[in-house]
Amino acid sequence: MALLTIGAFARAARLSPKALRLYDELGLLPPAAVDPESGYRFYDPAQLERARLVAWLRRLGMPLARIRTVCDLEPAAAAEEIAAYWKQVVADTDARGQLATFLVDYLSGKGAAMSDTPADLGIRYAARTDTGIVRTSNQDAAYAGSRLLAVADGAAGPSGDRASAAAIDALKPLASAGLPAADLLNALADAVGQADVTVQGMAAEGDEPVTTLTALLWSGSELAVVHIGDTRAYLLRDGELFRITDDHTYVQSLVDEGKLSPEEAASHPQRALLVRALGSPGQAQVDISLRSAAAGDRYLLCSDGLSAVVDQAAIRSALEAAAEPEQVVQQLIDLAYGAGAPDNIACVVADVVPV
Ligand code: MN
Repeated sequence: MALLTIGAFARAARLSPKALRLYDELGLLPPAAVDPESGYRFYDPAQLERARLVAWLRRLGMPLARIRTVCDLEPAAAAEEIAAYWKQVVADTDARGQLATFLVDYLSGKGAAMSDTPADLGIRYAARTDTGIVRTSNQDAAYAGSRLLAVADGAAGPSGDRASAAAIDALKPLASAGLPAADLLNALADAVGQADVTVQGMAAEGDEPVTTLTALLWSGSELAVVHIGDTRAYLLRDGELFRITDDHTYVQSLVDEGKLSPEEAASHPQRALLVRALGSPGQAQVDISLRSAAAGDRYLLCSDGLSAVVDQAAIRSALEAAAEPEQVVQQLIDLAYGAGAPDNIACVVADVVPV
C-alpha cells in the first residue's frame, strides 16, 4: 500500500499537518515512515481510522493523554472509556452550573443588601427524629438552631447513624461564624467536602456508610440551601407549598429523562436508590443555592421516612395549621406512623418571624 504524504493524509483525516506533527510528538499517531534525509513524515492509509478517532475525541474536548488511552483500547473498552469520560464531563458541568446559579443569586441579591440593614428576621423551630415502627435503629439525624436547620439520612451500613451526624456536624461551625454570602460558598464547599472525606473514612468491611444532607443556613436575611440525596426541603409561603430541593435518586433521573412518571417513581421498588450522597466516592456533588427569606415563611426539612409515605396534600395540611413548630413536627411524625412508619423519620419545622 502506497504511503501518503502528511499533506494528503491530513486532508483525508480532516486534520491539519500541524495537528499531525503534534500527535506524533505526543506518541498519539506516529507516522508509518519518516524520510531519514528530509525528515518528511509519511502515513499509511490504514492509519486513517485512528486519525479520525483522534479528531472526533478532540472535538469532544478529551485531553490528549486520555485520547492515547482510548486509541489503544479494543472498541468495546474504548466505548466504555468514552462513556465514563462523558459522565464526568456532565457531572463537572452540573457542578459549574450550580456555581453559576449561586453567583447569579448572590449578585442579584446584592442590590437589596446595599442598605446594610441588620437582619430583622429570626426563626422559631423544632427538630425530631424517630425510629419508626419497622426499623430497629435510627440512622436519621435532625438539627435546628437559630442559624442552621438540617436533616440527614444515613444508610448502607451500621455506621449510617454516625454518617448522618457527621454531615450535620460539619455545618455547625459555619452557623456560629455568621459568614457573609460572599464567603459562604467556599466555606460550605469546604465543610461538605470535609464531611464527605469523614464519611468515606468510616468505611469498613460490610459497612460503607453514606448519608444525605439537606440544610438551611442563614446568611444575613438570606438562606443558603445545601442539599444532596433524597432528604427534602419544603417552603410554605402565602398558602402555597413549594418543594425547594430535587431528589438525587435513580428514579428522579428517569423522571427527568421522561422515562417514568412522577406517580410511577413514587411506587418504584428502587425509589430509594441514590445517585448522589456524601461518603460515596465521586458522587458527592452538592446542590447549593441562596434564597431570600420572608417573615411568615414556614420551612420543612424531612427525610424520606416522611415524604415517601405521607402524600404532599397531608404534609401541606399539617404545615398550614396555626400551630407551633413543635406541634407540627409531632403531627408529621404521627402521620408517618399512621402510614406504617416503615423507615426512620426526621423532621425540622421552622417559622421565619420578625424580631
Ligand atoms: Mn430513609
